Amino acid sequence: MAELKRLSESRDLTRIERIGAHSHIRGLGLDSSLEARDASEGMVGQLHARRGAGLILQLIRQGKIAGRAVLLAGQPGTGKTALAMGIAKSLGAETPFASVAASELFSLDLSKTEALTQAFRRAIGVRIKEEAEIIEGEVVEISIDRPLSGAGAAAPSGATAPGKTGRLTLKTTDMETAYELGGKMIEALGREKVQSGDVIALDKASGKVTKLGRSIGRSRDYDAVGAHTKFVKCPEGELQKRKEVVHCVTLHEIDVINSRTQGFLALFTGDTGEIRAEVREQIDTKVAEWREEGKAEIVPGVLFIDEVHMLDIECFSFLNRALENDMAPILVIATNRGITSIRGTNYRSPHGIPPDFLDRLLIITTQPYTEDDIRKILDIRCDEEDVEMSADAKALLTKIGVETSLRYAINLITSAALACQKRKGKVVEMDDISRVYGLFLDVKRSTQYLMEYQSQYMF
Ligand code: ATP
Repeated sequence: MAELKRLSESRDLTRIERIGAHSHIRGLGLDSSLEARDASEGMVGQLHARRGAGLILQLIRQGKIAGRAVLLAGQPGTGKTALAMGIAKSLGAETPFASVAASELFSLDLSKTEALTQAFRRAIGVRIKEEAEIIEGEVVEISIDRPLSGAGAAAPSGATAPGKTGRLTLKTTDMETAYELGGKMIEALGREKVQSGDVIALDKASGKVTKLGRSIGRSRDYDAVGAHTKFVKCPEGELQKRKEVVHCVTLHEIDVINSRTQGFLALFTGDTGEIRAEVREQIDTKVAEWREEGKAEIVPGVLFIDEVHMLDIECFSFLNRALENDMAPILVIATNRGITSIRGTNYRSPHGIPPDFLDRLLIITTQPYTEDDIRKILDIRCDEEDVEMSADAKALLTKIGVETSLRYAINLITSAALACQKRKGKVVEMDDISRVYGLFLDVKRSTQYLMEYQSQYMF
């Protein structure tokens, strides 16, 4: 199973989380009857569109979406991407979400159909069950700079293993295993922070230690280096050996890992290049085999294509075909255009979409935000970015949001926080907002500026 070995390398890659433009979106914020709550799961307002998205969720769950796609039509910054992400999040934590702007498909080093294929495969998850011997334990006590007294007594069936810089007691019936693995565990933990109450696991094959979660909450952080670490209790009271680990990766990640010499590192650099059709065929065959053997499941994700009016007819025929595939992700497309010409033709149509593709669409419209919605979204973003802001400053930022755009106001949060940090402040005040508002132009002021000074620019 060489492929599976390499796949496990990419596991951490898929778990990377950071504060991004939509990281506050955790779902669609619907109640059990799929009615939209005013503000929930990071979603605010846009009730009509969220209700529509809720019905789409139902269709997806009942397996009735096949062959169809969703079109979100609305002005820029009205939450189209946020809604698409909300759908993905509501489908489950493992549901992949891939987003691409149609114009990117024409500007990459790839042919547009290759770029579209990669986008589709980024939105198809594979849950792979891998055989691995995992030892799980819960940290109940960590002491620094002094040996644990009575460790043996606390772990009557345990064995004590010296690590590089610490000592570890494992409760296990197998003394030899405990001795051998204990050292590895301490070494690996040296690179991580442990806390009492953490449940940790050691993958015996790779020697990798991961934190699985928390069991009981107490104590503060300790660095495991130099600590004497005692593992005596496990979730079920016994040290567990587990045989099955589940990785969730996308088909695109499998493609890249198996086609680039630098393997999974290519995923970081984005240097994926064209992937040969034979590589994809082999991978599809392998995945089909795993599915048959019960080792893998397909997790259809959400593919979001923004600025869809920029796609040409070839792209639309690709999408028409791709939607018929049984592994197809949920396709959500978005545009802010009305009736416009279909790229590459002289025909005009609604949203620049060919009639045969329009026919497949469930269309949801988004509306501009009210002042109250903007204030609430800014509040959520401040929390997300850990920025403390005075009530005055928030009121000013809301006003800016109403007069310029929600996205511009959201962007000012980060820069105002930096301005505040620079003056060694803790709370972002009106002055910080005014300062960054003066430094960075919004679209309206930028246009005005260009109109005033256009004679000084080259054409
Ligand atoms: P464009 O047409 O320019 O691509 P868009 O309609 O996709 O814009 P988003 O990018 O989703 O707009 O929204 C702009 C910002 O506002 C994002 O950070 C998004 O997460 C946030 N946002 C938009 N709508 C909501 C909402 N209803 N609740 C919470 N946050 C929202």
